Amino acid sequence: MHDVLVIGGGNAALCAALMAREAGASVLLLESSPREWRGGNSQHTRNLRCMHDEPQDVLVDAYPEEEFWQDLLKVTGGNTDEQLARLVIRASSTCRPWMRKHGVRFQPSLAGTLHLSRTNAFFMGGGKALVNAYYRSAGNLGVDIRYDAPVDRLELRDGRFEAAYANGERFAAKACVLAAGGFESNREWLREAWGQNERGEWPADNFLIRGTRFNQGVLIKHMTEQGADIIGDPTQAHCVAIDARAPLYDGGIVTRVDAVSLGVMLNRDGVRFYDEGEDFWPKRYAIWGRLVAMQPDQIGYCIIDSKAIGRFMPPVFPGVQANTLPELAQALGLPEQAFMRTLNDYNAACRVGSFDHTVLDDCHTEGLTPAKTHWARPIDQAPFYGYALRPGITFTYLGLKTDAQARVYFGGAPSDNLFVAGEMMAGNVLGKGYTAGVGMSIGTAFGRIAGTEAARAALKEAAHAVA
Ligand SMILES: Cc1cc2nc3c(=O)[nH]c(=O)nc-3n(C[C@H](O)[C@H](O)[C@H](O)COP(=O)(O)OP(=O)(O)OC[C@H]3O[C@@H](n4cnc5c(N)ncnc54)[C@H](O)[C@@H]3O)c2cc1C
Repeated sequence: MHDVLVIGGGNAALCAALMAREAGASVLLLESSPREWRGGNSQHTRNLRCMHDEPQDVLVDAYPEEEFWQDLLKVTGGNTDEQLARLVIRASSTCRPWMRKHGVRFQPSLAGTLHLSRTNAFFMGGGKALVNAYYRSAGNLGVDIRYDAPVDRLELRDGRFEAAYANGERFAAKACVLAAGGFESNREWLREAWGQNERGEWPADNFLIRGTRFNQGVLIKHMTEQGADIIGDPTQAHCVAIDARAPLYDGGIVTRVDAVSLGVMLNRDGVRFYDEGEDFWPKRYAIWGRLVAMQPDQIGYCIIDSKAIGRFMPPVFPGVQANTLPELAQALGLPEQAFMRTLNDYNAACRVGSFDHTVLDDCHTEGLTPAKTHWARPIDQAPFYGYALRPGITFTYLGLKTDAQARVYFGGAPSDNLFVAGEMMAGNVLGKGYTAGVGMSIGTAFGRIAGTEAARAALKEAAHAVA
């Protein structure tokens, strides 16, 4: 029997496994995917948000605790646990030397990456390299790893973990860390959570999943049935508008289209529906998935002209291109009359001052609903481009309630040998909203805590057995 069983194979699970092993516990990690798909959503990431009081290696200036906290408070609308949020924030300032020790390398942010050079440390080689480094280090330290091992249930006694089952095999351990992601890959569950809208559509049927197909939420459902305390709203998720041509799973970062604030967004009927220039794109990119989800057919069309080219991260697929606006409407399959009315009204309403995409500039519309409050310039310079966008689910926030020791709760009482980390508990910190890079900050902080606590619980039990 192992001391610690870790369920999951992404960032949170790997941080837990490494910490438990470093604390002297024997560790078995069960990952549901085959080896070549290991790493869950973490393989798609690029950075983590880090607090720092002065410039630190790849991070410029300072990003103090209070500013990080205020950012989190703002995006969650206060729907966060301050104690746990501050714990994540503080941990984010000290975790990088440990990450480096396990082979993770950092690099400064590149131009066009949401202006994150002050707040976010980028992984060299992205999340895939991070995950590979952690697996390599775990293997070197003697962590046992099983792939193709989807856990479907746990054996619990009075809130204590006894064993987990995968493929019918029983895995007993003295303590366990649950780090098996959210339920974002489970289309049936998303359909049920989002329900049917007033047009009779099932919006979630048109969602794409930006990351892994393996986060089916099996253990969130199982733990709910076992009476674990649950936190979060099943419709709350990180949801971005992504290229409609993206694959159903694992499209990753390259399917994001960051041109929205440089142009206009239309729905299927050729009508605008939200202020594209409300705020800086890093603060707004994660609202557009939900906004598109509310539109008929759950589709939106980002329209730009040649002035926007070179000002946003180029998506992997080129946009649909045309030399005139009516031709673009036709090429996108949009109703030409409505499309032209919207574009003409918008162009006529633009009051162009000094365009500057790096500040909230004075280019805005007048007398238009909805207004475009910044970066409003007429769309009038051929060639024109259009991108069809769909809601892309990044990860869901429904999960297990926890505390500063990452313990799982049953009826308000903490388990003494069952812990949780990553997306499975992110809802404690993220009731709603998102600020770029905080997913990895949460997973790293809680993965490390969960691993340490699980090792402590397991080794205490072993010491009792000897005494
Ligand atoms: C395209 C994309 C880009 C992103 N970019 C960033 C970024 O730059 N910065 C950031 O902070 N966040 C980013 N995120 C969010 C980030 O990926 C998550 O917050 C973070 O990776 C969660 O880590 P985790 O370990 O909890 O989950 P995951 O990394 O998803 O790991 C969950 C693991 O559990 C396994 N699993 C699931 N069910 C079972 C089961 N029943 N039994 C066994 N194993 C199971 C899965 O196979 C997977 O390996 C991004 C997400 C996506 C999709």
